[in-house]
Amino acid sequence: MENDGLQERFRKVGKEHGYETVNAEFVSFKEFKVRWQRSYKWADFKVSDYMADAPPEVIEGLASTLFARICGKGDPDFSEEMCKWVTSPDFSKYKQSTYLRRSRNLSRSRQGQHRDLGECYRRLIDAGLVKEDPGIFMSWTKEPNVRKVGYCSVLMKVVAISSALDNPDIPEFVADYVMYHELCHIVIGFDPSSEKHGSEFADLESKYPRQKEAEDWLRRLCMYL
Ligand SMILES: [Zn+2]
Repeated sequence: MENDGLQERFRKVGKEHGYETVNAEFVSFKEFKVRWQRSYKWADFKVSDYMADAPPEVIEGLASTLFARICGKGDPDFSEEMCKWVTSPDFSKYKQSTYLRRSRNLSRSRQGQHRDLGECYRRLIDAGLVKEDPGIFMSWTKEPNVRKVGYCSVLMKVVAISSALDNPDIPEFVADYVMYHELCHIVIGFDPSSEKHGSEFADLESKYPRQKEAEDWLRRLCMYL
């Protein structure tokens, strides 16, 4: 869909909500998101270009959700079509490489100086903690961030681990735990209405046998998830 098609659909939905002047365009954000500005009669949307190949009903579903929010009709969920489309295997399959290209702080390699993230993943699979998913891309970060040592894009199926953990002085099970934490986000999946580290997440995360020990290590190193 071109910008014109996007604009047309947002205008149609906007009209139904009493908005006369509506602009919408695709923008190449790194993350999947929408930004908007509005007054009481105009609205301007910048929509992630990861949506550029979405079918018209998905775009209209998104527009309806956003206008309902703007009009103060609570915090409605995304449409079923929208959720289905962004969580389909093709979504991450075809957009992951663009996402990685836009992620400047990733080495785009599993192999670090001392550690191989593929081996961390293998240990988690062998321990029965996660199921193997060949669609997940794993990478070390370029900069050894310590404030936040794990990142994950659920929709793009990308897990990134800080290269601060690519250090033989930090035990293997601590790095594995950080990867497990990020993989738990992917297992739980896309659910914008639920809390990121809510009780469902905590239950899953607590299956890691040395969780407390790993968290103690991270705390001592002033590293955070
Ligand atoms: Zn997390």
